[in-house]
Amino acid sequence: MRADIVLLPGDGIGPEIIAEAEKVIHEIARIFSHDFNLSFGEIGGCAIDKYGDPLPDSTLEPCKKADAILLGAVGGPKWDDPNAKTRPEVGLLKIRKELGLFANLRPIKPHTTLIDASPLKREIIEGVDILFVRELTGGVYFGDSELREEDGEQVAINEMIYRTSEVERVVRVAAKAAMARGKYLTSVDKANVLEVSRLWRRAAQNVVSQQYSELKYDVVLVDAMAMHLITRPRDFDVVVTGNLFGDILTDEASVLPGSLGLLPSASLGESGPGLYEPIHGSAPDIAGKGIANPLATILATAMMFQHSLGLSQEAELIEKAVEQVLDAGHRTADIASDTESISTTEMATKVIEAINSLA
Ligand code: NAD
Repeated sequence: MRADIVLLPGDGIGPEIIAEAEKVIHEIARIFSHDFNLSFGEIGGCAIDKYGDPLPDSTLEPCKKADAILLGAVGGPKWDDPNAKTRPEVGLLKIRKELGLFANLRPIKPHTTLIDASPLKREIIEGVDILFVRELTGGVYFGDSELREEDGEQVAINEMIYRTSEVERVVRVAAKAAMARGKYLTSVDKANVLEVSRLWRRAAQNVVSQQYSELKYDVVLVDAMAMHLITRPRDFDVVVTGNLFGDILTDEASVLPGSLGLLPSASLGESGPGLYEPIHGSAPDIAGKGIANPLATILATAMMFQHSLGLSQEAELIEKAVEQVLDAGHRTADIASDTESISTTEMATKVIEAINSLA
């Protein structure tokens, strides 16, 4: 197949991990005789430095025309000044909005050989396999905000808005994913307090009963879900929720497997390119040292093959290769306990070797 893929390395360790994912993409192209056209763009702090804009049109326009986008990470202390005109994260919010990427998919599945790196007990974490689907372009993060003076003190207001259609489309993504997995969907809200959540609950219920009645379906309040995630995470299959609750719950869930360096994510829209990235940030503390774990980005590449390019066999091959490398005991510094650690490049080389031995 032929596909246009835009690589956005970003800041900090972004360029190091994207360089390794690029090698994996080339290897897959070689093995399966695909023709991938790779191009590069700037986003985040590096784009602010060069263009004064964290997402210049020279980056956005090629992304709009691409089949898929692979992003490293953005941000770092250099761009942290609260009085700065713009910030790296603005580029991330803008690309999601511009491309209509309303559904963020985050699989949470600890690797069997790394179970003991989890902060939870083995008997709680073993067998966990959750797919979070977070609404990404609505809710309180995109509502109007205001800071005003009232009776001699400051008052801040944020609007939280969801339309029925926004809820329905993200629930459909989650329900479809659940149909292909364990056929169990959990919708998380705060319907006992928020009007927005009551609308969310009605809309979600309608989608499931009208189109996905085969699913086992539950609703859980967000405060209860925060507890269930650490007491009985194994009980969940696909979890769908709004932007704010999803932000918090997915970060909570991301610590379950024991390393940020292993978790990928995908942001999808109704049509057009998907955006794939590791869930971790730009890790400025280790940038340039060659020790970053490239596996989350390599697994994000697998998600890209699966969701945007429809190449399930290729995606599975990458995932199996990562599993094999971890099973063989290879570790970057972030996941090495008593074993010797290998570099970013060495880890990616091991994955490429495993891809070739499995292919
Ligand atoms: P972080 O995820 O960058 O780092 C947290 C810790 O995890 C650090 O100790 C780091 O060294 C380690 N770590 C992260 N990824 C790793 C990897 N692949 N291999 C090995 N170790 C890894 O989070 P932070 O320190 O809170 O944020 C740093 C910067 O990243 C900030 O500017 C933040 O705004 C930005 N950020 C960006 C994104 C994104 O681009 N999507 C997400 C989160 C944070």
